[in-house]
Amino acid sequence: MTSVLLAEDDEAIAAPLARALSREGYTVTVEQFGPAVVEQAADGGHDLLILDLGLPGMDGLEVCRQLRTRGADIAVLMLTARTDEVDFVVGLDAGADDYVGKPFRLAELMARVRALLRRSAVSEDGVLEVGGIRLEPAARRVLVNGIEVGLANKEYELLKILIDRAGQVVLRETIMEEVWGDVELRGSKTLDMHMSWLRRKIGDEGSAAERRIATVRGVGFRLNVD
Ligand code: CA
Repeated sequence: MTSVLLAEDDEAIAAPLARALSREGYTVTVEQFGPAVVEQAADGGHDLLILDLGLPGMDGLEVCRQLRTRGADIAVLMLTARTDEVDFVVGLDAGADDYVGKPFRLAELMARVRALLRRSAVSEDGVLEVGGIRLEPAARRVLVNGIEVGLANKEYELLKILIDRAGQVVLRETIMEEVWGDVELRGSKTLDMHMSWLRRKIGDEGSAAERRIATVRGVGFRLNVD
């Protein structure tokens, strides 16, 4: 059974969220005190940590840093009332896998939870599939709605990063580093150009609202899961 650790000290948020998670079939443990969250999350018994940024005893960023320092293998979804881009980047930097700003819609949060859990339980053969886009790493093949699409090397790598982290924002810097091997030398124009080629090839050229690959201005890109 999938186990979720919910670190949230605000009862008005924790209670309904815990109920919603239980309804989805997850086992839920609620913890409020920062240092206790670190201990529980590091013991390996949970699959996902939903982490409020403002916790008594130790804030969420520090909780996250300590978990990553200890090498804890748990997916972390950060919750915060602050919606600054800066906090967003700092959160990802501290080792969070994704981020949801308060107030959030329950449906959106649950979609992010599912995406994170799906990502941490990738199938054996490494095949990744999100909403009609299927990527087969062994064959280095991409199919969209069952039809093979020929992608150039960088386009394939770009899609792989996004589908690997479906439902989450992938920072531009991360993409530059992982696909091109450097952040500085090539202008980010290269990235935008390849992104537009990729979108054209996978048929993702609708209006911004319809696009499967969403642009998070100045931050990065997100492959939407639903
Ligand atoms: Ca709080």
